[in-house]
Amino acid sequence: MKNALFVLHNSADTRSSEFATLAAIATSIGNAGYSSDLLILDTTGSSSVNVKHGSAFRNVTAVAPDKAVGDGADYLVHIVGKAASAAVSLVVGFGTISNRNWAPQVAASFSAEFVTACELIEVADNALRVTGPVMGAMVQKTLSLGDRNAVVLYSGENLAAPEGTDIVVEVSREPAEQGAVRFVASEALPDSGGIPLRGASKVISGGLGIGSGEKWRLIEEFAAKVNAAVGASRAAVEMGWVPSSRQVGFSGQKVSPDVYVAVGISGAVHHLAGIGGAKKIVAINKDPEASIFKIADVGIVGDYEQIVAAAMRKL
Ligand SMILES: Cc1cc2nc3c(=O)[nH]c(=O)nc-3n(C[C@H](O)[C@H](O)[C@H](O)COP(=O)(O)OP(=O)(O)OC[C@H]3O[C@@H](n4cnc5c(N)ncnc54)[C@H](O)[C@@H]3O)c2cc1C
Repeated sequence: MKNALFVLHNSADTRSSEFATLAAIATSIGNAGYSSDLLILDTTGSSSVNVKHGSAFRNVTAVAPDKAVGDGADYLVHIVGKAASAAVSLVVGFGTISNRNWAPQVAASFSAEFVTACELIEVADNALRVTGPVMGAMVQKTLSLGDRNAVVLYSGENLAAPEGTDIVVEVSREPAEQGAVRFVASEALPDSGGIPLRGASKVISGGLGIGSGEKWRLIEEFAAKVNAAVGASRAAVEMGWVPSSRQVGFSGQKVSPDVYVAVGISGAVHHLAGIGGAKKIVAINKDPEASIFKIADVGIVGDYEQIVAAAMRKL
């Protein structure tokens, strides 16, 4: 029997589909001989967590740092590293920005393979296989893990909940300063709230074409008006207009909404890697030659400020 450790940030935004997806993976890899524990980093400030489908795991623990640790990445390097050193051969988390901070460090600490943006975790011939995009999402790579240790960040579809009951676990407060790791409050922008990207049925994303942080508010107003989640290209995130938790793409989140609206986004391959699951893509861009129009179902050429303002007036 091998041990797997699943890691989940529990915040006010956490959806039951996230619990269900991890529980489904844990149940399926049980067929490859893995026994799974769930480690929750709780950032809600509550004294307990209601863990959906918690009985799919052998043990569930919830921890919270005893003081602010930014997005918790440094804290998780320590906490997950400690747990993983206890004979864990597989660590699984979602492919979020903060997970991408601790995961490679934890992988290095126990000589594990690191697989990011994994879209499929499956059991074949009693062995675990993981599949995800590489080379800017131009090809899919499948890795048979065999006896190798691995840290895998999952960015695939939500999975159906397995049989299993909910459980309530108490949150234990762990000191934020331990060992060699120093914890510094992150300067990352906090998430602006609103509908979370993961699992959203409508997403309105903005890119560098929005032009400024001031103008970014138009994207937020537009999204709020149509009950959509706000998304962003990496260029918009790098400008500091929007938190990295909203980044869509190869190194951001994969989304599969019914409608994805790309505003002032050129359609670089790294951005498209995040929207392959969208059922309808609407693109607004002032450049008629922009690559985004090649994959858009509806393309609108023009200045986004006028187009979005006109759309909002009609809604
Ligand atoms: C390893 C790696 C990983 C990456 N991961 C990601 C990722 O996860 N997500 C991601 O998005 N990118 C990612 N990138 C970056 C990616 O390659 C692009 O640089 C980025 O997506 C470009 O963002 P953009 O479309 O907002 O900006 P630009 O390419 O600069 O496009 C801006 C667009 O706005 C349009 N525009 C300008 N003004 C207006 C206006 N007034 N009205 C309408 N349209 C207007 C322009 O015509 C242009 O098409 C990654 C890159 C690398 C190397």
